[in-house]
Amino acid sequence: QEADEGSPVSRALEGIREEVAALSDGRVADYIPELAHADPDTFGIAAVSAHGRSYCVGDAEHAFTLQSISKPFVYAVAVEELGLDAVHGHVGAEPSGEPFNAISLDERGRPENPMINAGAIVTTSLVRGTEGRFEHIRSVLSDFAGRRLSVDEDVYRSEAETGHRNRALGYLSLAGGVLVGPVEEAVQDYFRQCALSVTVRDLAVMAATLSVGGVNPVTGRRVVSQRTARHALSVMASCGMYDRAGEWGLRVGIPAKSGVSGGILAAAPGAFGLGVFSPPLDEAGNSVRGVAALERLSDDYDLHMLRTP
Ligand code: GLU
Repeated sequence: QEADEGSPVSRALEGIREEVAALSDGRVADYIPELAHADPDTFGIAAVSAHGRSYCVGDAEHAFTLQSISKPFVYAVAVEELGLDAVHGHVGAEPSGEPFNAISLDERGRPENPMINAGAIVTTSLVRGTEGRFEHIRSVLSDFAGRRLSVDEDVYRSEAETGHRNRALGYLSLAGGVLVGPVEEAVQDYFRQCALSVTVRDLAVMAATLSVGGVNPVTGRRVVSQRTARHALSVMASCGMYDRAGEWGLRVGIPAKSGVSGGILAAAPGAFGLGVFSPPLDEAGNSVRGVAALERLSDDYDLHMLRTP
């Protein structure tokens, strides 16, 4: 249920939003041509409690594409289907310290982790699903969000036409023996998962579902096992913020995943699911206002996962 606007949590979110909105640095991503049209001033924050109450401020109804935020969820789909060990026969679990589109494979020929593009494309390639791979991915991610998600066809097409570096990463992983081919099909499904359209409220519900151990707190439906939810939170905690994972752990300490469209999803275990959207990005590819807002939230509400009693 939607909490009323005058609630203390909504007022606190609004205070943070107003303060952080003053930040004007960062650049909107344009390497996927369609993303360049984003309005840099759009800014929304949402929180969903472990009991499924939601609090939204700013541009909470604005739709944007998931991009890399899809990665921990597709990782969860793969782990749920194949098991942890089978998945990690194909992809590592070490923070790469390198940008999201890096060409980096470990000594066993595996991409370093499932949160960089190479590892995410390999992870997508592992999913089978009875109703066809992408439909399965879409249906599980929709269960995480508690509503049926659809693909933004313009963004999908734009990336499919220009995403040759991702194709190259796919072929390298095929050559390394870790991607389950055909490459073009895996890459296309990866582009589709990245182009799923969401709002900050969706991000907060998806995050809350991980925070409480795999049951969507709004719909009451179990989406993945408690263990799979913990695995997804673990890779987010170590590898979710591009090459700023260490800095993020120090200053925010909430398992999170950001995407180049400007969204950040953060899941504080047992507490809150959070979603922020603001398109201008820092050099690492993280939303400038999103990082600042989550830093404030973590501080104000003592949400760091390593807090001591
Ligand atoms: N679809 C984007 C890409 O592969 C996602 C990148 C991101 O959000 O980091 O380039």
